[in-house]
Amino acid sequence: MIVILKQNPNKNQVEHLKTWLESKNIKIHESVGDSHVILGLVGDTSQLDKDLISALDIVEDVKRVQEPYKKANRKFHDEDTVIKVGNTQIGGGTLTVIAGPCSIEGEEQMISVAKSVKEAGATILRGGAFKPRTSPYSFQGLGSEGIELLKLAKKETGLPIITEIMEISQLPLFDEVDIIQVGTRNMQNFNLLRELGRQNKPVMLKRGMSATYEEWLMSAEYVMASGNENIILCERGVRTFETYTRNTLDLAAIPVLKKLSHFPVIIDPSHATGKSSLVSPLAMAAVAGGADGVMIEVHNNPERAWCDGPQSLNPEAFGKMNKKLIALHEFMKTLDD
Ligand code: PEP
Ligand code: MN
Repeated sequence: MIVILKQNPNKNQVEHLKTWLESKNIKIHESVGDSHVILGLVGDTSQLDKDLISALDIVEDVKRVQEPYKKANRKFHDEDTVIKVGNTQIGGGTLTVIAGPCSIEGEEQMISVAKSVKEAGATILRGGAFKPRTSPYSFQGLGSEGIELLKLAKKETGLPIITEIMEISQLPLFDEVDIIQVGTRNMQNFNLLRELGRQNKPVMLKRGMSATYEEWLMSAEYVMASGNENIILCERGVRTFETYTRNTLDLAAIPVLKKLSHFPVIIDPSHATGKSSLVSPLAMAAVAGGADGVMIEVHNNPERAWCDGPQSLNPEAFGKMNKKLIALHEFMKTLDD
């Protein structure tokens, strides 16, 4: 971190700043220029609040030269993180296809969708039991009963399961869940992230709808800082001026996150677009762009879905899309250098 002091700063305040930094085990390299004094800070600067230092009377500007995330940073963890779940893995060259309904509505619906996505080659089963809905009057999910149905579907199909947690108190219900999902609205629920860091199940962290890459990776850092290194990142579209699609899918996230971090990257074209007709083309683009997999909402009867029907594929459309994804993934491997 570099701190540029204002011209003729108050000497007492400069000394005060230096003493404070040294008390935090930061070494200071001072360079005195014609007009400004620059302090180069060496040590664990991730503990320093850049905005706090910038706000001091004597400070002109503060610049970070290194990212504030450490454990999530590719620079300090060169190997790709590969996450094993059930008989499959996420990352390491495997194409992960997570599929299932937006929300679990009942036994017949859940089991029927589970069987059809398994048949079509999905590797992980999804289903929402706790639903973060914009309106308090909308269906909020079946809760613990939904988790029981998802577990039943796991038994029937052998597929590992993923479902969203909304608060810490729900954690005991997730014992047999293979991957815990943190949704876009909770990406910065730091208490929840810390608690998920204290348990050892993989966590799929969806991008906050207006989060920068750095904010997203800092959230991953929260989970890692309390001990859990099994993190999957999921891009699900961000808010832009465009209203035609529900969100705007940021495919640049794939190469950027691969460069900045070591986590597997999953793309969710269902929530990104809100339109079933756009799901297959964007899933293809994701695989071509180097994603480790996709997450797709599938419903046995999308017109009747209790949640997110317009973006859900029926089993037939999912099957068609998945065939293309698998073929494309195989083809992409032949291009690898
Ligand atoms: C979901 O995947 O069920 C979901 C609610 O997604 P998001 O958090 O991305 O809106
Ligand atoms: Mn949904």
